[in-house]
Amino acid sequence: MSLDAKALDGLDSVAALRAQFLLPEGVTYLDGNSLGALPRAVPDALDELVRRQWGEDLIASWNRHDWIGLPERVGERIAPLIGAAPGQVLCCDSISVNLFKLLAAALALRPERRKILTVQGDFPSDGYIAQGLARLLGEQRCEITAVQPIELSAALDDSVAVLLLTEVNYRTGERLPMDDLTQRAHAVGALSLWDLAHSAGALPVELDRCEVDMAVGCGYKYFNGGPGAPAFVYVNRSHHQAVEQPISGWLGHGRPFDFSAAYEAAPGILRFLAGTPPILGMVALDAALTVFDGISIQDLRRKSLALGDFFISHLQALAISSQLECVTPQEHARRGSQISLRHDEAWGISQALIERGVIVDFRAPDIVRFGFAPLYNSFADVERAAQELQGVLKEGRHLDPRFQRRPAVT
Ligand SMILES: *Cc1c(COP(=O)(O)O)cnc(C)c1O
Repeated sequence: MSLDAKALDGLDSVAALRAQFLLPEGVTYLDGNSLGALPRAVPDALDELVRRQWGEDLIASWNRHDWIGLPERVGERIAPLIGAAPGQVLCCDSISVNLFKLLAAALALRPERRKILTVQGDFPSDGYIAQGLARLLGEQRCEITAVQPIELSAALDDSVAVLLLTEVNYRTGERLPMDDLTQRAHAVGALSLWDLAHSAGALPVELDRCEVDMAVGCGYKYFNGGPGAPAFVYVNRSHHQAVEQPISGWLGHGRPFDFSAAYEAAPGILRFLAGTPPILGMVALDAALTVFDGISIQDLRRKSLALGDFFISHLQALAISSQLECVTPQEHARRGSQISLRHDEAWGISQALIERGVIVDFRAPDIVRFGFAPLYNSFADVERAAQELQGVLKEGRHLDPRFQRRPAVT
């Protein structure tokens, strides 16, 4: 006999972590893959930063509280969570800006090639950034080929400079095999660049072991750094001597406070800094990451998969699976930490669920996403989501005329 939510929560070895978050009463939050929940440690850290450090110590804080070292320090906190040895991860800018730096850097490392190979249907910003770079460099230096995931192997040949992939697709939750695809890229002399927006913090990532060349990831999703939290970059140590990035701002200079006229890149990963780091956001992210201290990402992954399995089994048991197509692969190795359902009225369903206190999100044109954040979601959350979903469909709440119009942010 299968266990109920209460029993599963009782057996959950990481259940206690939920208490480290401030979650509103009565709300089931399944959107941590879009904006992570608020860790208890964050408000105090921000209060200390704003009132005492900024308010009292003012500009001396750059040294006294080592604000200047934050991008490296936060990067080192992230490193073990993505399988990176020290000295290769830096917290800075947004994914979009970091992708621009890394794509340009990767193309420069393969001067005799010009192709960026990627897949169709990935998060649009990644494609937009590649398109912007292609416009800037011209077609002699940059062209983009986007194929279906299944066509990747065939498309990987010695014309490819860089393989740009998101490990877990934002709409479908499908996970690509990082190890295998990186090896295939290397076999034809291409570099691999991975976007970890939907993997970092939710599942074990092994950048060093997979010999990934470069990666970017998000601070505000499964790392819970808050709205607009800075992102991170990873560049494999093997490239540190040769790699150059185009946003050559003063803080990526080897000696920024010499104020010399000529740019000279800082050693190693530090050269990926550009301008002054957003200290408020970085301190919030730094505090948020303390939740991961001493816990095993493998344990989080086990729980995340169990939450997803529990949701799927509920859908089947509640006999609503026929109305909804699960577009997320059920096979563990092939999925991330969300379950995505397809329905023509996906927008109405998401809005009706939110009205009932189950916060999910909608991705155009027809997907409802249920994100399971293993740090704070419980099996009871999953059960409630499945039951409310059944209620919405049974009562036809999703067809309410109020849900015919969509606001700017969906
Ligand atoms: C969320 C997300 C981004 C966001 O990029 P920002 O520039 O940091 O806003 C980029 N790529 C993917 C795959 C994402 O899911």
